[in-house]
Amino acid sequence: MADEVERLLSGRTRDIRLTGELRRRFDERLWRQTAKVIRSWMIWVAFVDVLTLALNAVLLPRQIVLSMIAPACLLPPAAILTAVVWNKPRPAAVQRASLLVGMFLILLSVGLVGVFAGGEFYERHLSIMLFVATSAITIFSVPLAWTTAIACYALCLYFILQWHNPLLEAGSVVAATLFFSCGIIATVVARRTMNILAQKTFLLDCRDQRRVAELADANARLERLARTDPLTGIANRRWMMETLESLWRHGRETGIVAMLMCDIDHFKGLNDKLGHSEGDRCLVKVAGIIQSCVRADRDLVSRHGGEEFLIVLPDVDEEEAVAVARRIRESVEAAALPNPASSVGPSVTLSVGVAFKSAVDTDVSLANLQHEADMALYRAKEAGRNQVSIFRRPPAAAGQTAARRQG
Ligand code: GH3
Ligand code: MG
Ligand code: MG
Repeated sequence: MADEVERLLSGRTRDIRLTGELRRRFDERLWRQTAKVIRSWMIWVAFVDVLTLALNAVLLPRQIVLSMIAPACLLPPAAILTAVVWNKPRPAAVQRASLLVGMFLILLSVGLVGVFAGGEFYERHLSIMLFVATSAITIFSVPLAWTTAIACYALCLYFILQWHNPLLEAGSVVAATLFFSCGIIATVVARRTMNILAQKTFLLDCRDQRRVAELADANARLERLARTDPLTGIANRRWMMETLESLWRHGRETGIVAMLMCDIDHFKGLNDKLGHSEGDRCLVKVAGIIQSCVRADRDLVSRHGGEEFLIVLPDVDEEEAVAVARRIRESVEAAALPNPASSVGPSVTLSVGVAFKSAVDTDVSLANLQHEADMALYRAKEAGRNQVSIFRRPPAAAGQTAARRQG
């Protein structure tokens, strides 16, 4: 459909023809507005008809007014019925039939009022009839075929009824009909131009909507790229730090959070022995294992650096945090990914440093906790790797926290 929109917009405006799905959408969008205009026009015409009859009853001789009543009574029901049909969406054939028949009866009624009254009213009402037709053609945003039909029978009615006007010569009737034909044709042409411009506006809207959607899509893609590590597909360090800063602000209310810093043992050696691409594959697998060991909906995992992963577990107690760290370490070992360069064993292993902040540790900043996790990781490495180490705050800091808690 986007191609069709571009094709139509790249051509000449006057060649724009909507078909298929585009036409259906255009009609659907236009319907409310068109139906509203048609309904108000019909009600207004019915009102003016009754008002004119009432005024005529006051101003004109009784005989003339009586002759006008019968044809004038044809208009209100025709207009009201048409308005009722256009009150809600109906099949196109029903809408077309109601509008064309309704308009015909309205024009016939206006014309016959003049014919029945005779004299000066004869020609005057036929001119009014053409004026009524012109206003409908101008403001009804309907297909050109319908507009043309209204124009044709308005002119035919004018010609036929004028032909029987005893006050006019045949030549005068033909000349007047030709004169009014020019006006009506100009109106139909203007209507056609308006229809085409409405279709063009619709096409431009379609194009704008598509571009806005594409832009939103591109933005979402960029955002995703900006927060994702391209190799492992997990979050990158930048996203993690931004998220942690925001979590920290909220974390002050619940305050419980564990931080796990993981580092693959002897990874440089793995790269050296098996090649960089094998190292990459190992990183992807370890990232997957870590993700499978945490709660998908709550915990945060990121690639913190080359072969380091940072995990944040909100709302867990210390035992749970250590259990998760152990599960990760065991799962990586159980995966038996080869690392011939490791002094720990034949396969890839992981060291994990755990730092924990409880609700009362309000003085432990994000940077502090991260540093503590790093320190714990360092100790795990020092102690021989492939193990979990937990950071214990020195008693002085714990004492300060306890004192503050009491105070
Ligand atoms: P340790 O047990 O003390 O952690 O030793 P290590 O060899 O794992 O640590 P070191 O910091 O010496 O080496 C990390 C290596 O990770 C060095 C670097 O070449 C490698 N590395 C970093 N990013 C990538 C990556 O994206 N792909 C691969 N294949 N290797 C990477
Ligand atoms: Mg490292
Ligand atoms: Mg390492």
